[in-house]
Parts: sequence; C-alpha cells; structure tokens
Amino acid sequence: MYEQILVPTDGSETAEMAIEHALDIAEKYGATVHALYVVDTDSMSLSLGVEQVDRIRQGHYGEMGEVRERAEAATNVVAERGRERGLEVVEHVSAGRPHALIEDYAADNDIDLIVMGSHGRSGISRALLGSVTERTLRSTTVPVLVVDARADDRD
Ligand code: ATP
Ligand code: MN
Repeated sequence: MYEQILVPTDGSETAEMAIEHALDIAEKYGATVHALYVVDTDSMSLSLGVEQVDRIRQGHYGEMGEVRERAEAATNVVAERGRERGLEVVEHVSAGRPHALIEDYAADNDIDLIVMGSHGRSGISRALLGSVTERTLRSTTVPVLVVDARADDRD
C-alpha cells in the first residue's frame, strides 16, 4: 500500500513531528521516504528581484547560499533519522510555490502517502491549518496524513 512516502518539511518543530510519523510508517511498510523542502519564492520575491528569484528556481542560489543550506539542513534531518532506522531516504530541494511543488513531486514520483504538519514555521496562533497544508489537501489526490501541532504536549 505505502511504498513511496513523501514528507514535505520546512524545518519547523511540527514538521519534525510529522517526520517521526513518516519514518514509523515507512519502517512498517518497508517504504522509501522522500524529504522535500521547497524554497518559497513567493515570500522571497518581495525582497528579491524577479531575475534573482528566477535564478533560484533554476537552482542557482548565488549570494542566497544560506537559503539552500537551511533547506538541506531540513532534509538532512529526515535522511539521518531515516538511515538510523535502515530506511532508504531521498532528499530533494526545489524552489517555487510550496503546495504546487509538493503536489507535482507526489505525482511525478508515484507517492502513495504524504505526511505533513498541520502547521509550520508560522505556528498555530494564526489559523486552524497552515496554508501549505490546506492548499495541498485541496489540490492533491494522494492520501495525506496531517500531524497536529497541538498534539505536541499530549504524549
Ligand atoms: P503559513 O505558512 O500559512 O503562514 P504555517 O507556516 O504555520 O502557516 P504551513 O506552512 O502550512 O503552516 O506548514 C504546514 C506543513 O507544511 C509543515 O509542517 C510542513 O510539513 C509543510 N511545509 C510548509 N512549508 C513547506 C516548504 N516550504 N517546503 C516543504 N514543506 C513545507
Ligand atoms: Mn509556512
């Protein structure tokens, strides 16, 4: 049933909770885990010019190297924890609109399950569900497991 599991991460604490669920399910099913970080170019285009955003979309970070490093640090967490459990982990960093690229990645890589947090870096104060999760739920046809940020203090 679950052979390819996608865990989109923005490096937040809630995403890290989702990672644990993804790894546990992957272990049970012998699935490959895909860790995806999307550099959000919409939020960057406010401070950067169109040309620089275009270059980043093509993978040329230039002076924005620390953006790429932050992205890789987030996917590395998945890779390290996964490999500790003997799982196969594929890391991927891309740039664009997060929910659109999550949906595209799922479609292009035969993803059977997406595991993500209810919230991300903005946190739970503002909305019931983060916008990336809400948009992903609306657009993808792949099953999505949403790990609730508020569950943190429960178990
Ligand atoms: P908002 O972004 O709407 O202000 P938020 O940051 O609290 O609110 P989301 O961004 O929707 O909430 O984050 C929810 C989940 O979506 C995260 O736990 C993570 O799994 C995933 N996610 C969010 N942003 C990204 C991203 N840039 N790349 C990959 N996954 C992401
Ligand atoms: Mn967010």
